Amino acid sequence: MARIVILTGAGISAESGIRTFRAADGLWENHRVEDVATPEAFRRDPSLVYRFYNLRREQLLSDEVAANAAHEALARLEDAFPGEVLVVTQNIDDLHERGGSENVIHMHGELLQSWCLACDGRTETLGAVDAGSACAGCGVVGRMRPDIVWFGEIPYAMERIEEALTGCRIFAAIGTSGNVYPAAGFVRFADSVGAHTVELNLEASLVHSAFAEVRQGPATEVVPQWVDEVIAAGR
Ligand code: NAD
Repeated sequence: MARIVILTGAGISAESGIRTFRAADGLWENHRVEDVATPEAFRRDPSLVYRFYNLRREQLLSDEVAANAAHEALARLEDAFPGEVLVVTQNIDDLHERGGSENVIHMHGELLQSWCLACDGRTETLGAVDAGSACAGCGVVGRMRPDIVWFGEIPYAMERIEEALTGCRIFAAIGTSGNVYPAAGFVRFADSVGAHTVELNLEASLVHSAFAEVRQGPATEVVPQWVDEVIAAGR
């Protein structure tokens, strides 16, 4: 059965009130990436890193943030398309799930989860975590870290993603700048196996020339329109 793989990035959540990353100035919510999103930063200043992700989590769970029409359109596609639809997201938010998608891989981890370095277990995390937090699984204190794949670490589920790309007929990238590898290289892989490739982004990404088709505009407009077309084509 034909398979669609959709790579998403921070741009799909921008209209939900979550700021993108590199957009204006290379800063993420006023912090340099090197200060909050690397294993070195966590070793150097764990309290800053804990605080950064605690604030991101609080924002994600606030009343102002909700899934938007683009997240919801992808869930509609998953329901209506006769083949498999897989969302591979670089986002750490849970807006695809809130929008109704079920087949989602979070290749860069999840904000609402913590990882215990003592027992290797993951636990759902809705509140704040710090150096004094205990693991709900093993009870050890002080070994919890955000379950985020930081720069310099290996993304999750790469084997599953590669397998899905190998069999895909359509590859779409939505709201991603093409700065971060390996995700930015998926389009070339998909193209090499004969998939139709399409970029949906506010502006041309760094890798736009690798796509067969590029559509520009806000995700809440271009994604529902593209989804309607794919459903209508029915293959
Ligand atoms: P990025 O911030 O580097 O790029 C965002 C892209 O989205 C840009 O190309 C921009 O033009 C586009 N964009 C902005 N608003 C848009 C809109 N309304 N509609 C469509 N496109 C829009 O994001 P990235 O490529 O995902 O890489 C950033 C990294 O930072 C990721 O690895 C991710 O883990 C992390 N991050 C995640 C979140 C989140 O979970 N929501 C937010 C910020 C950063």
